[in-house]
Amino acid sequence: MGISRRQFFGWMTAAIGSQVAFRPDAKAASNKHFTGYPGSMGVLHDISRCIGCRKCEAACNQVNSLLPPDRPFDDLSVLAQKRRPHANSYTVVNRFDLAGRQLPVFVKKQCNHCQEPACVSACFVKALKKTKTGAVEYDASLCVGCRYCMVACPFNIPSYEYNNPLTPEVTKCTLCQPRIQKGLLPGCVEICPKEALTFGTRDELIQIARQRIQEFPDRYVNHIYGENEMGGCNWMYISNAPFADLGMSEDLGITPAPALTSGALAAVPVVVSLWVVFINGIFAISKRKEQVAAEEKKTAVDQALKTEQTRLNDTVAQLKEKAKADQEAAVKREVKKALEDAAKQAAEIQTDPPEASPQSSETTQPGKQESE
Ligand code: SF4
Ligand code: SF4
Ligand code: SF4
Repeated sequence: MGISRRQFFGWMTAAIGSQVAFRPDAKAASNKHFTGYPGSMGVLHDISRCIGCRKCEAACNQVNSLLPPDRPFDDLSVLAQKRRPHANSYTVVNRFDLAGRQLPVFVKKQCNHCQEPACVSACFVKALKKTKTGAVEYDASLCVGCRYCMVACPFNIPSYEYNNPLTPEVTKCTLCQPRIQKGLLPGCVEICPKEALTFGTRDELIQIARQRIQEFPDRYVNHIYGENEMGGCNWMYISNAPFADLGMSEDLGITPAPALTSGALAAVPVVVSLWVVFINGIFAISKRKEQVAAEEKKTAVDQALKTEQTRLNDTVAQLKEKAKADQEAAVKREVKKALEDAAKQAAEIQTDPPEASPQSSETTQPGKQESE
């Protein structure tokens, strides 16, 4: 006896209804916001210095032991298309040919390591977390593959290993956390030949950025992108072209993503509960199927044993009958033989005369008399 599809969906609907009905203040129960850590590290990307050499992409590929790309990193023709990070590339450089400019502008794109990350807030199993170094860290062992982080990220950064059917992971720039912890620079920062990338504490980077903008006001737009966007990021940018022309939204505002999405994310605890209900449901169905399978197996075994027992009983009964019949036949045969033997003996007795007594032999000698 299994659970029908109709029963299952009816059961799930009831579960969802009860979860929502018994949650009077879903918003109050939503995930708490991160506030960023003092002294955390980050990177300043000076877009005006970037030459689009893609060496940062190559270094990122190497330090993260990613698969080789379809086209080599020194093939700059890939810059003709706008790209975004993907499962095998945690960072990409895009080229922008802007009207009225002789030279193109290049922008490196990767996770911005938000101070109050929407992805962290959206992740109900805490597979993503903001660390004290500034990096937003991913723990694949906790990830359930729901990909809410991908939906939540205002910068469209996290990717998913769709080509990995067995152990797919969410992928993104790690801020080279393992290298930072060893006292090394992030791979992309270390390799950049134009010092378009600067690593340091977030506070230091903001100071450097302000200083450059103040010293060269004609060169830079007066905006440190990431200082305040979405509550601030650990990866920031200064540019010689308006950010809006470089595919970087300037209308994101300064409100952290979790605060903006708290209404929507208020559903996350419900989703968490539902997820648990769903997982439990799958588990229950699975257990039920196992139970049903075990019951069916037991019934089948019992039935087989019963059938076999009946067959055995019949066979024994038949054997008994046969033995009885054989025994009776044997007795009959023996009786018949005994009777036949007795009859034979009687016949022989009648055929052979009894021997003469000695007296009569003396008086009567038939042979002799006949010859005399
Ligand atoms: S290595 Fe530096 S200059 Fe080259 S593309 Fe990357 S950020 Fe730009
Ligand atoms: S840029 Fe996106 S993936 Fe990176 S920390 Fe911010 S929300 Fe998360
Ligand atoms: S910080 Fe590390 S993981 Fe992030 S883009 Fe640079 S090299 Fe790649």
